[in-house]
Amino acid sequence: MASNNTDIRFLKGVGEKRAEILKKKGIDTIGTLLRFYPRDYIDYSNVTPIMRAPFDENVCIKAKVTSYVEESKKGPNMKLYRFIAEDESGAMQVTLFNQTYLAKRINFGSEYLFYGKVRGNFVMRSMTSPDIFESGFSGIHPIYRASANMSSKNIERIVKTALSTNIGDDPLPESIRENNNLSDLSFALSNIHFPKTNESLIRAKRRLVFEELFILQTGLALLKNKKRSLAGSVVSQNFKAEFEEKLAFELTAAQSRVIDECFNDMSSGRVMNRLVQGDVGSGKTAVAAAVCYIMARNGFQSAFMAPTEILAEQHFATLSNILGDSGVRCGLLTGSLTAKQKREVKEKLASGEIDIIVGTHALLTDNVEFARLGLAVTDEQHRFGVAQRAKLAAKGNNPHTLVMSATPIPRTLALILHGDLDISIIDEYPKGRQAIDTYLVNSSYHTRLYNFIKKHIAEGRQGYIVCPLVEENEELDIKSATQVYEELIENEFKGYRVALLHGKMSGKQKDAVMRDFKDGKTDLLISTTVIEVGVDVPNAVVMVIENADRFGLSQLHQLRGRIGRGEYKSSCVLVSDNKSKETKERLKVITETCDGFKIADEDLRLRGPGDFLGNRQHGLPDLKIADFANDMETLRLAGEQVKVLLKNDPRLKAEENKPLRDAIIELYKKLNEN
Ligand code: ADP
Ligand code: MG
Repeated sequence: MASNNTDIRFLKGVGEKRAEILKKKGIDTIGTLLRFYPRDYIDYSNVTPIMRAPFDENVCIKAKVTSYVEESKKGPNMKLYRFIAEDESGAMQVTLFNQTYLAKRINFGSEYLFYGKVRGNFVMRSMTSPDIFESGFSGIHPIYRASANMSSKNIERIVKTALSTNIGDDPLPESIRENNNLSDLSFALSNIHFPKTNESLIRAKRRLVFEELFILQTGLALLKNKKRSLAGSVVSQNFKAEFEEKLAFELTAAQSRVIDECFNDMSSGRVMNRLVQGDVGSGKTAVAAAVCYIMARNGFQSAFMAPTEILAEQHFATLSNILGDSGVRCGLLTGSLTAKQKREVKEKLASGEIDIIVGTHALLTDNVEFARLGLAVTDEQHRFGVAQRAKLAAKGNNPHTLVMSATPIPRTLALILHGDLDISIIDEYPKGRQAIDTYLVNSSYHTRLYNFIKKHIAEGRQGYIVCPLVEENEELDIKSATQVYEELIENEFKGYRVALLHGKMSGKQKDAVMRDFKDGKTDLLISTTVIEVGVDVPNAVVMVIENADRFGLSQLHQLRGRIGRGEYKSSCVLVSDNKSKETKERLKVITETCDGFKIADEDLRLRGPGDFLGNRQHGLPDLKIADFANDMETLRLAGEQVKVLLKNDPRLKAEENKPLRDAIIELYKKLNEN
């Protein structure tokens, strides 16, 4: 951060040993210490009587120690300290692990403040490893993420010292602060650690949240501008109409618009970095095919990368079908080709005899070379890391990049997650698509559900049963795919063609099962969420999702997207015995709408951004104080202010913006180290 870069060792009261411990917490400079915000606060004016403390919630208790501290050993490296503390409502037992220093300072008969979670029953309550303070404390105090050899109190003392040193320059330019009524750095840091009042804590927090989101977004904007300034291969002619003639259907207006957006990028002389977001079934493949076609007709090669073999094969078949006699040559490169086949494909790529190569990760191997790669397309981009995308792009001389995502992400979040990309949205479904009927039932419906599936199978259709787990779990009452499969093939679906699919199978096995299903050789597929990704089986029209409450809304929506892809009416049944009102409401959203963006917004509102940010592949730094779910409004506001700032100083060269620039460099430096 844009503050004091002095090594933490040199701060008064720290020294070598403590510096080592602090470094483990990511604190290496005075600046990072000042940004090590409290995880919570205790308001000492707000104490809870022992017997009235709610369980499993952090509370502050003021109690007198009424026993001596008893020491016992538990294993070679574990010391336990126990004592009793009492207030007027009752008593509790306090247990400390290995905290010898703290235990030695607990005096019989003295009163302390205990901060932590109370557990127990009506007779005896207990607290394990609480934070303990002298009872004379008053006001609001910080609680830091402590560890065995570094207590919250220790950190508090060091932070106090740090606050009295040079805290560094304010990374937020004055004009931005003024426009947004934000406090200055000194106020914010002293009040986030030691709030004078509740109001000053709120004010400090508001500013620091803004600052964090502002620095993050400014960094992304600069990155995007830099990428934009790279020269890319120029296509001069738009062959969209010619492409459309080869299709069996007409492009939707949205598909057509997105293809134009890509063409504009690719003819601009600059490198395209575009994300195409489109709900499941919105027809992203046709868009990608059109863009590859345009490239081919302008003399460039394209690489189209999919996360699984089955998807790569599916795309290859689609492209070959469309482009059959157009003169544009397609190839397929996957791990399961024979060595000879691979060699031939690679030779053709290197010599330029293939225009569009569809493939899996196999495309990333070092000996795949292109004659004139102009475009790299990645399908289902969330399945690939940023690094893999970059690797594919590195195979050409700044090829255009097109990434496709079926995960509808709320727009504000998308701007952040894909901050370095331009975004196109396919917000329309192909004509004649029938809505999927979705129902929510409890497990008493199973027999009826099985009959429902059988009825469809009798009509020649196929179906899915999706379970949250692969294997049985003793503790949780959750259906596992394996268990359901074994039960059903013995009983309800004896004699039917049933297959099992889950993530613990090898890639080859999964592909084989999926291929049989696609070819209509199986009637019913019992699966975990591995079917989530883009597979197109229009004949599958029914899906039952067991323990549906175990899934996020967006995930349910993705799963449901596997059906309703053809001419037949499709039905999705969510099974859940969860009685909580919230869960029911959450699941109801799915039964009421098929709009992925609406569902994503609702998911974000209800569950926070975990689902979207769940995999660490997004490559963004961890947020220290802001959070995407609650601070969306600030995120938007900060984003607007970034635009204002960069308009006046596009490369952040002005002297007054130097602290901001330093903060960005620092932030992204950390990111590259990780
Ligand atoms: P996704 O966006 O989920 O990847 P796909 O590209 O797999 O969707 O397309 C879903 C289905 O819709 C495919 O069977 C495809 O042939 C069909 N499709 C795509 N675009 C159109 C269109 N404009 N009109 C009719 N059908 C279309
Ligand atoms: Mg797809």
